[in-house]
Amino acid sequence: MFAYPKAKRSYRSVVCHSPIEGTEDSMGTEGLVPPQLLSLPVVLRCLDVVRVVDVTPHMRRVTLGGEQLGAFRSGGHDVTPFATHNPDDYVKIFFADPETNVLTLPEQDDGHLDWPRRPAPTSRSYTIRRYDEVAGELDVDFVVHGGGVAGEWARTAKAGDTIHLAGPRTSTVPPKGAPWWILAGDETALPAIAHYLDAPPSGIPVHAFAVVPDASDEQVDIEGITWLRRRDDVSDGQQLAAAISALSLPDGDGWMWIAGEAGTVRELRSVAKSLGVGKTMLDASGYWRRPVTGGVLKRVRTLRAQATETLAGRL
Ligand SMILES: Cc1cc2nc3c(=O)[nH]c(=O)nc-3n(C[C@H](O)[C@H](O)[C@H](O)COP(=O)(O)OP(=O)(O)OC[C@H]3O[C@@H](n4cnc5c(N)ncnc54)[C@H](O)[C@@H]3O)c2cc1C
Repeated sequence: MFAYPKAKRSYRSVVCHSPIEGTEDSMGTEGLVPPQLLSLPVVLRCLDVVRVVDVTPHMRRVTLGGEQLGAFRSGGHDVTPFATHNPDDYVKIFFADPETNVLTLPEQDDGHLDWPRRPAPTSRSYTIRRYDEVAGELDVDFVVHGGGVAGEWARTAKAGDTIHLAGPRTSTVPPKGAPWWILAGDETALPAIAHYLDAPPSGIPVHAFAVVPDASDEQVDIEGITWLRRRDDVSDGQQLAAAISALSLPDGDGWMWIAGEAGTVRELRSVAKSLGVGKTMLDASGYWRRPVTGGVLKRVRTLRAQATETLAGRL
């Protein structure tokens, strides 16, 4: 049996606390508190689909609810109610194996999950877009990208369906005292970016950018975001890099949060470097990976670059 796999976070220069510990002791001399990574007990829950709404042509919001959002007993353990602490908290969602149609789940242990080796559970990571404890509702925004076990599940999901999810296992407290924030990514990063913009820090510039397939994918209710439309001649990373590089930023250690396709994130790491953003103030996550195409040499180069990105993310 495995323990719950390590989260796919990209920066590691964070301080781990339990959620009840304070963070004031890590306040730097300049009043800057870097991001903090909290560890949380992991619970596997079975939830009901309450409703499904198309937010835009490529983004489907699935609202989940059910008794297991509360405390219950599982695998001989009392498990805690669902809780989310910070805007980019995410859960692992479990699906039936697309080949065999068999659903394999990890087992609840004390504060963590035991994962069977064979067959391994099929899971994908999704951000918690909204959690309303009083209404007992949890929103997850799925990009419907025309394939994939998760994308296809979301495309056909309807009220009354059930789904298993686990987490969040970790939670990142954003920095305090940074002179500016940059939030950037593709449409998979939108749920987290929108969540950050629900309650942005006051008194500092927060620059948010998202690349979406086209104008109809812009979510007009998200305030404070600059929309970029996907182009054939320029990569998402290049578009985002150009927009970020054109900013005039105040001096000091700003914070950069970037997520999306692995190649996009790799391109934005260079921008972070050119802005002097150090490891502690960079949160960069490859959320998905475009299949490698082209000749053998191109594939080898791309795979090597992707491996470097993955490695960088684990340091
Ligand atoms: C921490 C974290 C949070 C995330 N939050 C969200 C979120 O809130 N909403 C969200 O939609 N996604 C989110 N993602 C990304 C999501 O987990 C991936 O896109 C995932 O691969 C989708 O699974 P799938 O089964 O649909 O496709 P897969 O089976 O993983 O892939 C099948 C094919 O589809 C391609 N593909 C996968 N995703 C996309 C995409 N978005 N666009 C185009 N092609 C794609 C792959 O390259 C592959 O060729 C998050 C990822 C992480 C790590």
